[in-house]
Amino acid sequence: MILDTATLRVALALVDLTLLLLFYFITFRRTRSAYSGWWCMALLLFLIGNSAFLLNGTIHQAWANPAGNVLLVAGAASIWAGARSLRSARTSRWHFAVAPGIVAVASILDSPATNTWAGGAFYLGFMGVLIGLGCRELFLLERDYSHVHRPLAFVACLLALFYAGRFVAFLVDGQSGPVFTSVFGSVATTALSTVTLVVASFTMAELSYEQLTQDLRARATVDGLTGLLNRAAFLDLAENELRRLRRTKTTASLILADLDHFKSINDEFGHSAGDTALQAFARACTVTVRSTDLVGRYGGEEFILLLPGVTPARAREITAEISRGLQETGRGVVARLPTVSYGIASANSGAATLQDVVAAADAALYQAKTLGRDRSVLAAGAPKDKTD
Ligand code: GH3
Ligand code: MG
Ligand code: MG
Repeated sequence: MILDTATLRVALALVDLTLLLLFYFITFRRTRSAYSGWWCMALLLFLIGNSAFLLNGTIHQAWANPAGNVLLVAGAASIWAGARSLRSARTSRWHFAVAPGIVAVASILDSPATNTWAGGAFYLGFMGVLIGLGCRELFLLERDYSHVHRPLAFVACLLALFYAGRFVAFLVDGQSGPVFTSVFGSVATTALSTVTLVVASFTMAELSYEQLTQDLRARATVDGLTGLLNRAAFLDLAENELRRLRRTKTTASLILADLDHFKSINDEFGHSAGDTALQAFARACTVTVRSTDLVGRYGGEEFILLLPGVTPARAREITAEISRGLQETGRGVVARLPTVSYGIASANSGAATLQDVVAAADAALYQAKTLGRDRSVLAAGAPKDKTD
């Protein structure tokens, strides 16, 4: 039995429609995950795009052919965007629109009324590139992200290579050449597309739930207003870090920061100005310290930092930099910026637990407040020299 292209397209469209309904009603509606959302979008675009090609040979070919190319390339861009979303990477509108835009222009300028492969090289090239980029995103995920993303990456890789082969054959062999019409013909394309869809559907639920779990985990550890670690997450990570530092006998400093007379900022300029000041301080902290340091919101207008490899004396210089950074970056954003008081404790004093270190920094912070605020105080017993 020889299947003609139209029959294959209808069969693929049926598989596509079934998966779209299943993905939408079962996975997307339950998880609301970006990944399943992008896949639903991809399936919808593939469905309409492939259906547009059924109008080839009719008077509608002139618009349906370029439309089919554009929709399929937009579908491949959705797959890429979906894979990016697993790494929490956003896809901008420009990222998404560039390839379909170029394919639209190339197809329209290539006599689509008479040429069923109008803009074919651009269409095939971008299909290969976008699916390849999606495959790269899946390989960039950590090995233990899920049990199933590697098989999907493998199949996506195969499909990307297949499109690359089609692209080369189209350029070298021509659209009516034997290699392009047999090896890379519609039977092979439809078969491979179907296999990809089946593997994608097999992995869909697991990847969507994994994304949902990671999302919830991130929300449970991050402070919504400032984007810093929340108190529980900071203490958790700091506990582990402290253990590691003790093992390697590395110096570390813990800083507690409290914004001065913060209540008066709220009272004078409103709560949202207060929120902006908190965000400005969080930003001043993150741009000043290294990405490997831990920075958290300890509560209200109090912040906490753990700086491995940093002596209390150096930590004091860092607090001065943070305060300077706050005044510089926050100027113009908030009508009046608060000054900040800091308490600094050494985190490597023998068998002291994290609670002991935080308590020592807290006592130093209290002293900073009573001495007049806008200053750093080293906890009793913290070495005051600058040697690391
Ligand atoms: P001190 O110099 O002694 O620390 O004085 P203070 O006014 O900063 O301290 P106090 O503890 O009296 O007030 C803290 C204020 O921080 C009160 C509270 O409304 C405000 N605050 C806590 N969390 C937030 C927040 O998320 N947003 C805003 N805008 N204000 C907050
Ligand atoms: Mg306070
Ligand atoms: Mg305060």
